[in-house]
Amino acid sequence: MQLNFIANQSIASLSGRTLPVIDPSDGQPFDEIPRSDERDIDAAVRAARACFDGPWGKLSAAERGRLLMALSRKVAEHADELAAIEQRDCGKPTRQAQADAAALARYFEFYAGACDKLHGDTIPYQAGYSVFTWREPHGVTGHVIPWNYPMQIFGRSVGGALAAGNCCVVKPAEDACLSLIRVAQLAAEVGFPPGAINIVTGYGHEVGDALARHPGIDHISFTGSPKVGTLIQQVAAERHCPVTLELGGKSPQIIFADADLDAAVPVIINAIVQNAGQTCSAGSRVLIEQAIYDPLLVRLGEAFEALRVGPATLDLDVGPLIRQSQQQRVWDFLSDAQSAGIPMVAQGTVVDEAPETGFYQAPVLLADVPVAHRIAQEEVFGPVLSAMPFKDEDHAVELANATQFGLVAGVWTGDGARQFRMARRVKSGQVFINNYGAGGGVELPFGGYKSSGYGREKGFEALHGFTVLKTVAVRHG
Ligand code: NAD
Repeated sequence: MQLNFIANQSIASLSGRTLPVIDPSDGQPFDEIPRSDERDIDAAVRAARACFDGPWGKLSAAERGRLLMALSRKVAEHADELAAIEQRDCGKPTRQAQADAAALARYFEFYAGACDKLHGDTIPYQAGYSVFTWREPHGVTGHVIPWNYPMQIFGRSVGGALAAGNCCVVKPAEDACLSLIRVAQLAAEVGFPPGAINIVTGYGHEVGDALARHPGIDHISFTGSPKVGTLIQQVAAERHCPVTLELGGKSPQIIFADADLDAAVPVIINAIVQNAGQTCSAGSRVLIEQAIYDPLLVRLGEAFEALRVGPATLDLDVGPLIRQSQQQRVWDFLSDAQSAGIPMVAQGTVVDEAPETGFYQAPVLLADVPVAHRIAQEEVFGPVLSAMPFKDEDHAVELANATQFGLVAGVWTGDGARQFRMARRVKSGQVFINNYGAGGGVELPFGGYKSSGYGREKGFEALHGFTVLKTVAVRHG
């Protein structure tokens, strides 16, 4: 039985209610988490405020950095344990779970080094003045985390907020809490003061909503669906609380005829099957120049046919989806595609060892997907790749930008001038040339255009979002 973690104490929800924790590989419950409510959030916010006004606020930037570095090392020492927890909780194949634990350690390492490098400017002003800026922490920051990459998103969001001097109240997704509770315990073990990191579990509409509404929360970092992002923004707007929104995507991988296809094919596949396609930055549309459309579809089809899906511990190419409703969501999209006559070129194989009760979906390659069809417009959040041909560069840009999203894009071409033109013309927060970095790169600012959200996390840029800029003008004659 898991517990909330508030002020460095493991405690049950005040109501005593719980929710089951399900293993996606076999669909069976194996643990319980607290089903918290607004009273638990209130206790966590108070603990965070006391810490911010007390021991955390008294630390120098360098001391904060040393604590974050100690946490990075601690996470690295416990990487196998954390990966095993995540594997069972989220159904991640071993390599993915290990990569997530390594990324968490790296986030804390990066933000440890950033603490004492965050500074303001001096500004030339009228004669007789000295003007400068300070970057001050918001105070208590709220973090709503989704289930697809709990450790990575905790690392980038909470790591950045702590580095900037805030104390944090974290609401993990109800499907994926266990690793984050453990990380908060590890933080206490390395000396984080009570209240610096607090974890409160439960349903989004109950405890997530309570977090967003709490007047003691000074900034909200939300990562999740556009629908809930809108709700969070509306709630936060009522009290003018700043929000960072990291939302969904329908990211294009754009392949020109002069691309190095040997390099591109494995990257195109990985960008959609990583984490069973449950990745905000999944490369879920592949736009292919007409001249190579048919032969590339054949190559991609062969690669899809070779993909194997099964229980997380078998460490195959693809693990299960997170839960039954997610599986149903993918089936609904595929059924709509079938009704619309969209050809299915290839699909992978669910292995015999996969229990009937697990939430499996073989990766699917669809061809000639009309740009207006919902499977080319909405997030499937499963291993489904939609291919469509383009005539020329203008047409590629038009298709790439023809969704409500703009999170990540990949462009494959050997033409240097075209690489720059495409990077300018595609509306997305990140553009990778001759590669595709689905979520990778701690150092790289990440965030969306359009309905993919706004504000940036990751990299040094994130620290600007986790601080308030104060201008001080001193008239000294
Ligand atoms: P979700 O929006 O359903 O849930 C995200 C979090 O919000 C969960 O913790 C959930 O409990 C909470 N929540 C739900 N309703 C709430 C409410 N009314 N008030 C406050 N909190 C509430 O999203 P999900 O299904 O967990 O995650 C998938 C989505 O997240 C996809 O759209 C994906 O693209 C997006 N995502 C984006 C990024 C990014 O960095 N841009 C990263 C990962 C996932």
